[in-house]
Amino acid sequence: MAILKVSRLGHPVLRARAHELDPKSITSEGVQRLIDDMFDTMREYSGVGLAAPQVHEGVRMFVVGLRPGPLGPEIGEDDDMPMMALVNPEVTLVGKPTSMGWEGCLSIPEIRGRVPRAAAVRVKAWDRTGAQVSFTAKGFPARVIQHEYDHLDGILFLDRMESFESLSYLEEYDRYWARHEGDDGGAE
Ligand code: ZN
Repeated sequence: MAILKVSRLGHPVLRARAHELDPKSITSEGVQRLIDDMFDTMREYSGVGLAAPQVHEGVRMFVVGLRPGPLGPEIGEDDDMPMMALVNPEVTLVGKPTSMGWEGCLSIPEIRGRVPRAAAVRVKAWDRTGAQVSFTAKGFPARVIQHEYDHLDGILFLDRMESFESLSYLEEYDRYWARHEGDDGGAE
């Protein structure tokens, strides 16, 4: 297990489309190690999600989650995001991206901004055992999934902002915005 170096805004790997993984390779030692290292890296930097391009690996995979837990057919608005690695995900937005919420990104440290996202998503992917999974997610878990999925196509949360008016350093976010919003503004 290792903590990996996180790519930062400006590195081309964050702007490239990541490549599909052969599902047969998911259970290989190399991919399993990468998944473990991505979870370690995400926890080290207190993130709630981390996509492979953020650790300089151009493959379509991300990890999310805060707590171990079974993955049911639906992650509700108020549910904690279960820890999971999703490979070659297909994410379909349910409804238009009109739900506003704060986001941060481990690749854009110390910055927060308000981003419109769909309130729910449908997800199909492979999990780390190489099994196919499908589920829906709502609310904050749906936001995290949309943020991570964007990373696989070279899209950053800044690109999704309608206006940069809310763009804030973390200290100013805490001082002027967080107390009004009741939002934790976790980094992804
Ligand atoms: Zn991010």
